[in-house]
Amino acid sequence: MTMADLCRLSSDRLYRFFPCLSDPARRSSLLLKVALVLLHIVCAGVLFLFDKGFVENARTEPWYTALYLLLFAVTLVQYFITSCSSPGYVIDVMRAVNEQNSLLRNRTKQRQPAASKSGSFVISLDGSQSQSGGSFVASDTTYWAKMVMDLYPPGTTLGACTCSYCNIEQPPRAKHCHDCDRCVLQFDHHCVWLGTCVGQQNHCKFWWYICEEAALCLWTAILYIAYLKAHIEVSWWKDIIMIPLLVFMSISLIFLILLLLFHSYLILTNQTTYELVRRRRIPYMSYSHHGDG
Ligand SMILES: [Zn+2]
Ligand SMILES: [Zn+2]
Repeated sequence: MTMADLCRLSSDRLYRFFPCLSDPARRSSLLLKVALVLLHIVCAGVLFLFDKGFVENARTEPWYTALYLLLFAVTLVQYFITSCSSPGYVIDVMRAVNEQNSLLRNRTKQRQPAASKSGSFVISLDGSQSQSGGSFVASDTTYWAKMVMDLYPPGTTLGACTCSYCNIEQPPRAKHCHDCDRCVLQFDHHCVWLGTCVGQQNHCKFWWYICEEAALCLWTAILYIAYLKAHIEVSWWKDIIMIPLLVFMSISLIFLILLLLFHSYLILTNQTTYELVRRRRIPYMSYSHHGDG
């Protein structure tokens, strides 16, 4: 047996125990999450290991350390909540709307048993006439299509807003994500860091995550600077570990603050990154421009 065979056999065994690892996309997303948690633990752990003053402080002023640890935990929890949250997939919303629609229709049918028995038409909510259960799917699709069409400015053709990948009618501001392979409501961007899309339903969670991450990064950097200021000449090997970490944190902090400001602007002006970047190429955006002018 060669080395390659042995590797394949052991990886096959690993995938049998953890089926999610067999998908390369999920594997890289999982690795990224492990790396992120490790990075946080290393950055904060160095403080506890090296800075005796910080540990001493935990005894004299426990609330200070407790507050820092609370922010640390909240940031990581927020990361996982955002990463596991749905950005608002169009297909899920469509299913929910259809279920509600058929439920309402069933109720209307039950209220008019005489009409159904005699074989006459039952007027459904969408205005179309259905005679039997067989036409449910078709009328559900038309109900969704009609609802979506009502959201567009008059004169828009349905063909222009149908996703060719999902084969469904896209509401305004939705976009197909090729990484998630689904249409997303108020698509902002696909976040590689989170391993999911940012859309209508998790934009707020995403904003809070950046906010908490920036606060944690700032606080940790301040603690690093305070330690280095007092102890820079004490032990060089500690400096070698702490200075690169501080540089990394400073760069991350600048990036996080810019991202926070950018997303605050987007939320306040009710825009998405996608709409801001591709403004001229989005049909409904150019429509509103013509309308204004
Ligand atoms: Zn799609
Ligand atoms: Zn996506």
